[in-house]
Amino acid sequence: MPLALHNTATRRKEIFEPIDPTNVRMYVCGSTVYAPPHMGNARPLIVFDVLFRLLRHRYGERHVRYVRNITDIDDKINAAAKANGESIRDLTERTARAFHEDVAALNCLTPTVEPRATEHIGPIIKMIETLIASHHAYFAEGHVLFSVVSDPDYGKFSGRSRDEMIAGARVDVAPYKRDPGDFVLWKPSPPDLPGWDSPWGRGRPGWHIECSAMSEVHLGDTFDIHGGGLDLIFPHHENEIAQSTCAHGGKPFARYWVHNAFVEFGGEKMAKSVGNVRTIREVLTEVPGEVARYAMLMSHYRDPFDWTEERTAQARHALDRFYRALRDVEDFTAPENVFPVTVMQALEDDLNTPLALTALHAILGALNQAIDRHEKLRLKGQLLAAGTVLGFLQQDPETWLKGAGDEAAEIETLIQQRLAARKDKNFTEADRIRTELAIRGILLEDKPGGKTEWRRAV
Ligand SMILES: [Zn+2]
Repeated sequence: MPLALHNTATRRKEIFEPIDPTNVRMYVCGSTVYAPPHMGNARPLIVFDVLFRLLRHRYGERHVRYVRNITDIDDKINAAAKANGESIRDLTERTARAFHEDVAALNCLTPTVEPRATEHIGPIIKMIETLIASHHAYFAEGHVLFSVVSDPDYGKFSGRSRDEMIAGARVDVAPYKRDPGDFVLWKPSPPDLPGWDSPWGRGRPGWHIECSAMSEVHLGDTFDIHGGGLDLIFPHHENEIAQSTCAHGGKPFARYWVHNAFVEFGGEKMAKSVGNVRTIREVLTEVPGEVARYAMLMSHYRDPFDWTEERTAQARHALDRFYRALRDVEDFTAPENVFPVTVMQALEDDLNTPLALTALHAILGALNQAIDRHEKLRLKGQLLAAGTVLGFLQQDPETWLKGAGDEAAEIETLIQQRLAARKDKNFTEADRIRTELAIRGILLEDKPGGKTEWRRAV
């Protein structure tokens, strides 16, 4: 079955056909390393990791090139370093290290290349020079600006009117701009901020040009997939397209644009500006990375994801069930792990991970009921193969369930607390504990003689 992806550029689902099946190329806008990444940032990491794994599965591991950049020069970085009283380099190194630990805990594969903006100043300057030479950019008062009127296609990608674009870009209209929509490619740096020598004096690049230059260096002028969060469509991706196509004489830039929806928390988009941010690190102190990953894949990537405890409890419960079934057939060595068609069909339909998980549960149900050894082997092989593309079920079941054993101890503690509350006639607290456990899929049964037993809802 062909792979279908929703393409933001055409606003419809399209069959994915790579330019060169032996070199499938994907660029995803990465992290700006100034603060610990939050669960909103985790979503594209997980979504595009699944797409990367799926592409590797289809075209072969050595035939997929995934580039995810690190933005290590940015005004937000400069401001955060100043506020922390640490050097810019210390801040970006420390944040990048923590970022890599978080991404690994979410079981994301390392991209083929992870370029850093500060290591691509040469190509950035070169691209700006090309844009100036072709009259798509101009120099004014120490800045180089992209001229939006020079590109008749500007605005088509995001489908915004000119007024919306100007308002959306939140440009403070500097007097040196020829048009209020023009955006910065290069700006001057005072001595206390990072800067590089350029034909326009000592300065630093704007954010948008970084991605255009890095994708050009690592993937070429035209490549297959460009990904990122919905919030990047305008202005970031609109500007990337303008810069790259104009610098490359009108050659197409990325052919398929894939955007993930937001993560919400408490009914609002999770964002630093809203103040409802939960960092990946905070979540990892509560649940294993595999649970966080599974929880996120319970929603389709184009739907908003509401981060709730109920979700993570469901995810943990599901993974426990999968690992328990795998432990029961642990001594059966599958000769070959064959990818289940049902799971593959779901993923090929625009990465329909909720449907893929439903299909995976059907295989689990069949495995739990299977009696025939050969059938058990086949189903175990299917679960493990699907796990390699979804990015879970790869741990030793015993190790995983030992972690779940800690959970059993925790459940016992909660049951004791509930019994104590009942003795004190604090029924509100007793009910709260019962509800908390019920949300996690743990059902209580009060037995005669004051004993309480628990079981998992299946
Ligand atoms: Zn970008």
